[in-house]
Amino acid sequence: MVVLKFGGTSVGKPERMKKIAELVLGTPGKKIVVLSALSGTTNTLVAIGDHLLAGQKAKAEEETANLEKHYQSFIKELYASESFQAIGQEIVSRFFIFIRMLAAGQFDNKGYRELLAQGELISTELFYQHLQERRITARLLPALYFMSIDENDEPELEKISERLKPLVSSLTNIDIVITQGYICRNNKNEIDNLKRGGSDYTASLIGAAIRAEEVQIWTDIDGMHNNDPRIVKKTIPISELTFDEASELAYFGAKILHPSTIVPAQKYNVPVRLKNTMDEKAPGTIITGKGAAPGSFKAIAAKDGITAINIRSSRMLMAYGFLRRVFEVFENHKTSIDMITTSEVAVSLTIDNALHLPSIENELKKFGSIEVDKDQTIICIVGQKITEQKGVLKKIFEALGDVPVRMVSCGGSTNNVSVLVEKQYKE
Ligand code: ASP
Ligand code: MG
Repeated sequence: MVVLKFGGTSVGKPERMKKIAELVLGTPGKKIVVLSALSGTTNTLVAIGDHLLAGQKAKAEEETANLEKHYQSFIKELYASESFQAIGQEIVSRFFIFIRMLAAGQFDNKGYRELLAQGELISTELFYQHLQERRITARLLPALYFMSIDENDEPELEKISERLKPLVSSLTNIDIVITQGYICRNNKNEIDNLKRGGSDYTASLIGAAIRAEEVQIWTDIDGMHNNDPRIVKKTIPISELTFDEASELAYFGAKILHPSTIVPAQKYNVPVRLKNTMDEKAPGTIITGKGAAPGSFKAIAAKDGITAINIRSSRMLMAYGFLRRVFEVFENHKTSIDMITTSEVAVSLTIDNALHLPSIENELKKFGSIEVDKDQTIICIVGQKITEQKGVLKKIFEALGDVPVRMVSCGGSTNNVSVLVEKQYKE
């Protein structure tokens, strides 16, 4: 079995949605098709939710009405027959009645998460009905039946697997199983999600849960590139990556993949293939556990919005347990640390989630003097076992030239070197 995931732009226009039906049909064997919301929808739902939380009902209604119009014209082009036009109408009105019902009530965070789930719920229904119109046998399997996260928002892979396996095998004679990306239930059994861009993660979790042959992530670019195509001209797609390399790149800025996607696939050694819906013949990128030939630089990614924190303390000198106490502060604020460097009297580390920065700073003050630099960028240089190669750091520092480097991290893994610079030097 394979898992095929199609992102927002792949389902964002009626002709694209028809195209993915072709791609699904062209894939042999049984498959699970994971869909995102139509492009722009989740952003709009976020905007509606923000207006509602701020008590701005009129603004929320304006956005809702525009979104509804968008779906009205979408179904007009998607369905050919009058009877399916009517079915499309029914789906759209049902969803928008529900959205307005959420908006009319006491809108809280729970309502907000339900609102965000509507994008994937509607896209999968519209696609399912499109297949029905074409008399293609398929089943819609709601992600809320099997996808769950625990009290720390971590997906419960084993439970997902226990629920999903019997569901999938009960669907005998069904080759196409459609489900929603992104959405799940939390430990209170409420509707929740896997964070923005989470449909990739859904696909990989499903792939791991059913031990799929392969997970395919279909987007609008021909694989993972060796640099950010929005900034660097003439980037090239990378044909093969290891799980570790792909994880580093996704985490440190490659926008093509949700950063957690690789984790479940790697756990059960399920290959992840990145493909382009606009150019299905393009080879794309295959991510596997196989080690590629060591030695060369493969790709560079950059992650903005990084905050660097420096803690300087003479108490650190020859002391043990100091770092543990520092890390505990971050742990207590559920804030993860990306890079870390230490000297005998100081430690520098970076975080990308500055939500709890004020209280983190406050607590760190008891250890020594604190310095905070915002607007930093991590540049991550990736390649199989590059840190074991001679001259790698020399090449990197030569390329950096006069750029002031705030931190360097090398040796944590053999396949990446990261440097921290001020954002203005990123390009
Ligand atoms: N629709 C969700 C988002 O826009 C999930 C996804 O597309 O992966 O973040
Ligand atoms: Mg995405």
